[in-house]
Amino acid sequence: MTAVKLDGKAMAERVRATIRTRVASARSAVRLDAVLVGEDRSALLYAENQARDCANVGIEYHLHRLDADARFDDIAGRVLLLNADDAVHAIMLHLPLPQEVEAESLQTLIDPDKDVEGVNPSNIGRVLYGRRSLVPCTALAALEMIESTAITLRGARCVIIGASNLVGKPLAVLLMREEATVISTNKFTPELPALCRSADVLVAAAGVAGLVTTEWVKPGALVIDVGINRVVGSDGKTRTVGDVAPEVAEIAGWISPVPGGVGPMTVAMLLRNTLDAARA
Ligand code: NAD
Repeated sequence: MTAVKLDGKAMAERVRATIRTRVASARSAVRLDAVLVGEDRSALLYAENQARDCANVGIEYHLHRLDADARFDDIAGRVLLLNADDAVHAIMLHLPLPQEVEAESLQTLIDPDKDVEGVNPSNIGRVLYGRRSLVPCTALAALEMIESTAITLRGARCVIIGASNLVGKPLAVLLMREEATVISTNKFTPELPALCRSADVLVAAAGVAGLVTTEWVKPGALVIDVGINRVVGSDGKTRTVGDVAPEVAEIAGWISPVPGGVGPMTVAMLLRNTLDAARA
């Protein structure tokens, strides 16, 4: 069997097309504001890409840059100003923050209704209770990809490798809401390969290159690869690979590739959360 490849780029383009239409017909501008502290190169690159992605669908993007020596109160002050500004629908905080600034306390300050990355703990609480909520984008992206297949989630056995606050845990809750049988695993889980082999849906979000091999996968299973790992190949070149070994595509029923799978969909989910925040 050769797995059906879940094309995250194409799915993301479809999501963007819908957002573009909705933004164009919105009564007022849809706006995302991001706060970036310091000069971290990857954060700056991410912000640049974000500005382009927002422009592409007609969302206004405002980047608030603070000096590298900004203190907790400076950043908190900016977040609170954005919370109070009715023209701002969506807020996100770029990482990393200065070492002495605790990210979690700042994330808790973001108005839950503007928290498009779903990092305020009250949003995950709402997810748990099945209320309207902004869900962390990568978990949402993985769920969208799962739902794009013929798999019936009710009763399906879903094993998630990795239980971080932004990926594994919220995805577990989302799948529980679909009445799937959810098994959350981490690096201390015994007999992980056997557990994974029992899964109808296997999500790999550990950040370990090539962790999931063919022996870990039930033939025909749906495999979602969330991992993003930079590895140096035998040719000395650095490439991006997932947590799932390439051979798994020979036995899985569906597979999301890396790159070109969950990554592009995660970006699209941030835009969709922004639109949802504005509509709310
Ligand atoms: P994290 O480090 O916060 O959490 C990793 C989790 O995996 C932990 O629960 C840990 O116990 C578990 N784990 C680690 N090694 C394991 C092993 N050998 N066996 C079983 N479990 C193991 O990571 P994160 O932020 O959740 O990210 C996970 C991966 O997903 C990373 O590669 C990250 O780059 C990627 N990621 C991708 C996107 C995207 O847009 N595609 C977004 C966020 C994260």
